[in-house]
Amino acid sequence: MQNFKYIGKKLFVEKSSVKNIAKKNQTPFYLYSGNQIKENYINFATNFKAVSPLICFATKANTNLKILNMLAKLGSGADVVSGGELLKAIKAGIKPNKIVFSGVGKTEQELKMAISKKILLINIESESEAILIDKIAKKMSKKVSVGFRLNPNVDAKTHKKISTGKAENKFGLSIKNFMNFYKKTDQFKNLSVDALSVHIGSQILSDVPYKKTLKILDKLITKLKIKLKYVDLGGGFGISYKKEDRLINLKSYAKLVAEFKKKINCKIIFEPGRSLIGNTGILISKIQYIKKGQNKKFVIIDAGMNDFMRTALYDAVHDIIPISKKNKKENIAVEFVGPICETSCKFVKYNKYQKVSEDELVAITNVGAYGSSLSSNYNTKPLIAEIIVNKNKFKIIKKKQDLYKLINS
Ligand SMILES: *Cc1c(COP(=O)(O)O)cnc(C)c1O
Repeated sequence: MQNFKYIGKKLFVEKSSVKNIAKKNQTPFYLYSGNQIKENYINFATNFKAVSPLICFATKANTNLKILNMLAKLGSGADVVSGGELLKAIKAGIKPNKIVFSGVGKTEQELKMAISKKILLINIESESEAILIDKIAKKMSKKVSVGFRLNPNVDAKTHKKISTGKAENKFGLSIKNFMNFYKKTDQFKNLSVDALSVHIGSQILSDVPYKKTLKILDKLITKLKIKLKYVDLGGGFGISYKKEDRLINLKSYAKLVAEFKKKINCKIIFEPGRSLIGNTGILISKIQYIKKGQNKKFVIIDAGMNDFMRTALYDAVHDIIPISKKNKKENIAVEFVGPICETSCKFVKYNKYQKVSEDELVAITNVGAYGSSLSSNYNTKPLIAEIIVNKNKFKIIKKKQDLYKLINS
């Protein structure tokens, strides 16, 4: 995280001191680096330059309108999974012809919206969905460009709650079901089968599952002799949450994708979420109380699982770092926990940590993806503010939710 670093003992985002930002804004809040967002997008595009793919940011990773708008300006499209995300992507300036729509449970209303907005592709995940889209399209007298999402039964070797490409997962059509079903797609007069798509999981740190998937697709497309405009290879690229996390060599994967593209003769789509946005944000929180437990100290911070759910939901480990570094160490283990009345509202435990006191500030790291977008009002807590840094300036890009509006229903 080049844009998040200590200058002396103080934590900075780009050229802004976190402490100064926290003086003017109530904790907890999300804090992003605009420059990191730009760098990540450009880095991804550069790695796949030989493929010149359409990059469709997986909106669910971060739905902040200003951030979507920044990505739109960089040239990004969007992968959306609901009508709400579709409308937000368009509102943020992403052109409908760069939007793909995924998800196993799209409703009739959402499908109608997608068709009337003329998005690039609807990625179908079941036979029933294909039948429904054809019916809606017929009523609207439209021919709809669709893809089929396949479940290649590949183990992405990631946490079980973010694996999506194994036979036991609900996503996509199995290769066998697709082969049988593909023969019947001629009878859908209002569908144009333009794409195949896959998305095998998230936080993937090995290129093996990607390579396996590419092979399966190659074999299938060759066997069925399908003419495709697009192959959508999904997202899932991991980021470094822990020091020992080794990232995928995107350049070597890009070479394989370039060969694949040449052979199949189609446009490639990617749907990265986490890898574009994960390391662009931190969550600033204040130490509310410290209390002694058995063999450890509980450091109770003012951010909870309602603000940041990844730890509770996926056992994710996110480092918590001080805003001001000290040399003095605690001689007892410390566990950072949040205020929500759930045992799982806890973050991370250290056997050694610097000496901490009440009212000091800390930052939960790498929270840009699946952070604010997964937050909730649990325990009737308002959604927290989101702030972005541009060099030595900061800007509020989402205000903290008003508590008195929240209590009305
Ligand atoms: C969530 C999701 C993505 C993004 O996954 P990341 O791991 O964040 O890159 C891409 N495509 C689909 C269909 C998804 O559901």
